Amino acid sequence: MPANILNLPAYTVTALQENEHDYHIDATVKAMPVCPHCRGGDLSGFGRREQMVHDLPSHGRRVGLYVDTRRFKCNPCSINQGKTVTFYEPLPDVDERRAMTSRLRAWIGKQAIKRTFASLAEEVGIDEKSVRSVFRDYINELEKTIRFEVPRWMGIDEIYLIRPRCVIANIANNTIVDMLHNRNKETVVRYLHHLEGKDRIQYVAMDMWQPYRDACHAVIPDAKIIIDKFHVVKMANEAMERVRKDLRERLTPKQRRGLMHDRWVMLKRERDLTDEDSLLLSGWIRNYPELGLAYRLKEDFFGIYDAESPDEAQGRFLQWKSQITPDIEPAFFDLVRAWGNWNPWILEYFNHPITNAYTESLNNLIRVMNRLGRGYSFEALRAKILFAEGAHKRTNSRPKFERKSRKEALQALLNGEDIESDLSEGAIGLAGTRSFSMGRMSPTHKPSTQLPEPPKNYGVDISTLTRMLENGEL
Ligand SMILES: [Zn+2]
Repeated sequence: MPANILNLPAYTVTALQENEHDYHIDATVKAMPVCPHCRGGDLSGFGRREQMVHDLPSHGRRVGLYVDTRRFKCNPCSINQGKTVTFYEPLPDVDERRAMTSRLRAWIGKQAIKRTFASLAEEVGIDEKSVRSVFRDYINELEKTIRFEVPRWMGIDEIYLIRPRCVIANIANNTIVDMLHNRNKETVVRYLHHLEGKDRIQYVAMDMWQPYRDACHAVIPDAKIIIDKFHVVKMANEAMERVRKDLRERLTPKQRRGLMHDRWVMLKRERDLTDEDSLLLSGWIRNYPELGLAYRLKEDFFGIYDAESPDEAQGRFLQWKSQITPDIEPAFFDLVRAWGNWNPWILEYFNHPITNAYTESLNNLIRVMNRLGRGYSFEALRAKILFAEGAHKRTNSRPKFERKSRKEALQALLNGEDIESDLSEGAIGLAGTRSFSMGRMSPTHKPSTQLPEPPKNYGVDISTLTRMLENGEL
């Protein structure tokens, strides 16, 4: 009898059957139990029953464990209570409620982050509902053990997974710290309200979506709200597109053919146009002046973002707005209105510009998720993203190597005080501060009074996550 096939020392394997798909393993529990009431061992046998338990798939086959479970009568308890007191022996290493081994349960939890519930259910030989239930418990456990640092620079963005969802990011660290079911005010309020250390949040970058703004005003009123440049200039592109599409509709098919690739060329920034692009564009502009004006307005709107202060930006905007002619005004109406409605928060950007790196990497992630996210529930995708092993950005518990620290500290100083990486406050920052304040000390003589920083977890690195998703590692 292959006694070791099970590799569960608490059991004796008594029989093994196999076919193309399955192993059926008969087993008994080795040890004698004690009475659950009196903890005594004065027991008499009182029958048996067979309990079927699922176990880890083995050699490509599903594994069913058939435990011949003993029932016992406790002699002292029966005398004391004046009736027959019986119990079934407990099954070691088994989750009896789920009828599966503990190791199978743990394995399903981990696997369910990477794979669809259906494929797991098929491989193990259980139903999808059981997989989902194990997964939920697993995620709840993870939620308790993994805590991300609250960002000083928080990003609230959107990602479309079946429906629009809310992504909470740490902008300075380029990480994701949470994903919310939807983008309603109540959802964001609840999230912020329960967030431990929410006072740390100083800036929130977001899209022009009123529920986000209202939620922040309600829960973290001291945090500065900033509308990310990306969302504003996107509207300039859309306005230009409106002009272009209106024009195309008025053209004959022959004229329209003359506008081949117009969308592609016009969405390009002026500085990125090739000679061929420029030639095409100038031809179109000659024939259709409104196209030229729309392109000019788009480019000039981007130019507003070269301003170095809110005042300068507002001045540039007014100048820009005066160039809009009545015939294309409707196309730019939304943009002009948004600038008015969101003015203080749009202008706040010029006090605290957010790095393009963050916006770009988030957009890359959104693209990949749109492609790969199909077939998963939101909970599974959220877990995939938040608990992806290997994508977490952490500080080390030990200070960094001295020379590197000095460089990073210098970098942090050069970057200015506003976009200060959260990381620079952690282990790196401490080490960096030390190498400045104790500049004359030899690096080999580290002060022993240095307080050890507990390691911090800043969330899921967006670029790493995107790469892992693209490589199929998740
Ligand atoms: Zn007893």
